[in-house]
Amino acid sequence: MGKIRFWMLNVYQVIYSFLSMNQVALITGASRGIGRGVALELAAVGWDLVINYANNQAAAEDTVKCSIEHAKAEGHEIRAAICQADIGQAADRERLVSFVRNQFGQLDLLVNNAGITSIGRSDLLEASEENWDALMAINLKGPFFLCQLVGSWMVEQNNLNDSWRGKIINISSISSDAVSSNRGDYCVAKAGLRMVTKLFAARLADAGINVYEICPGIITSDMTNPVKSKYDKMINEGLTPIRRWGEPGDVGKAVVALAQDYFPFTTGDVFNVDGGFTIRRI
Ligand code: NAP
Repeated sequence: MGKIRFWMLNVYQVIYSFLSMNQVALITGASRGIGRGVALELAAVGWDLVINYANNQAAAEDTVKCSIEHAKAEGHEIRAAICQADIGQAADRERLVSFVRNQFGQLDLLVNNAGITSIGRSDLLEASEENWDALMAINLKGPFFLCQLVGSWMVEQNNLNDSWRGKIINISSISSDAVSSNRGDYCVAKAGLRMVTKLFAARLADAGINVYEICPGIITSDMTNPVKSKYDKMINEGLTPIRRWGEPGDVGKAVVALAQDYFPFTTGDVFNVDGGFTIRRI
C-alpha cells in the first residue's frame, strides 16, 4: 500500500511539474529569519519553494504554511516543500539538490542564505580553530559547493533550452567589510562569499546564469536577538541613516527584484540592504 501511495505521489509530482508554470527556488535556512522573509516574498509573486532547514522542523513547516497562504492572498497557487539538510555536510547538500530534482524537476533560483554567527564570539586572540572550522563549513564551504552542484544542474537546464536563465543569490553581510574583532571567523567567511559570487558569476555567465550577492545590514532575527539592546542604541544614535532595524522582508524584496530578472545585465555584484550603513559620513 505504501509503495502504491509513493508511486502515485511521484506520478502526481511529475504531472504537476509539467503543468506548473511557476519558477522554483531553493532557499537554504528558510525556517526562520531572513530565509523565511525571502520565502514569503517569493511566494507572494508566485514562486514554488523548497524550504531547507537544519534542526527546526516546526519552524520550516510554518514557513511552508505561511508561504502558501501568502501566495493565495496574492492570487497565486504555489507548491512548497521542506527538506532538512545540514549545508555544511557534502552528503546532505547532494541529498538536498536531489530532492529538488525529484520533487520539482527544475531549479531556477538558489538562495544561499543559511548561516550561523561566530560560536562563542571570542576575541581574535582567543578564537579556537574548532569553532573556525564549524563556522566555515556552514557559512563558506556549504554555499561554495552548493553553487557548484546547482550551477552544474543549471548549465544542463540551459543546454536543454538556451532561453532559460538561472540565478544564484548569496546572502553575505556588512561583516564582509566591517570589522568585529569578536567575530573574526564570521567576517572572513562573509568576505570569502564575495569572491564565491564573483567566481561563479564569471564561470556561469555563458550559460545565462547570473550570480548576485545581497549584503544585509542589521536585520531582526534570532541571530541578532541576543545583541538587540546594543544595536537599538547604536541605531537610535544614527549608525544607519535610515534609523530602523532591517526586516527579513527587506532582504526578501531585494531577492524578488533579482529573481524576477530586473537586473539582467548585472552579475557578480553586491546589493546592499543595510539602511545606508556603508555611507561614509563626516
Ligand atoms: P537565523 O535567524 O539564525 O536563521 C538561520 C537559518 O539558517 C535557520 O533557518 C537555520 O535553520 C538555518 N541553518 C543554520 N545552520 C544551518 C545548516 N548547517 N544547514 C542548513 N540550515 C542551517 O539567521 P538570520 O539572521 O536569518 O541569518 C540568515 C543569513 O543572513 C545568514 O547567512 C547570516 O549570516 C546573514 N545575515 C544576517 C544578518 C542579520 O542581521 N540577521 C545580517 C547580515 C547577514 P534551523 O531553524 O533549522 O536552525
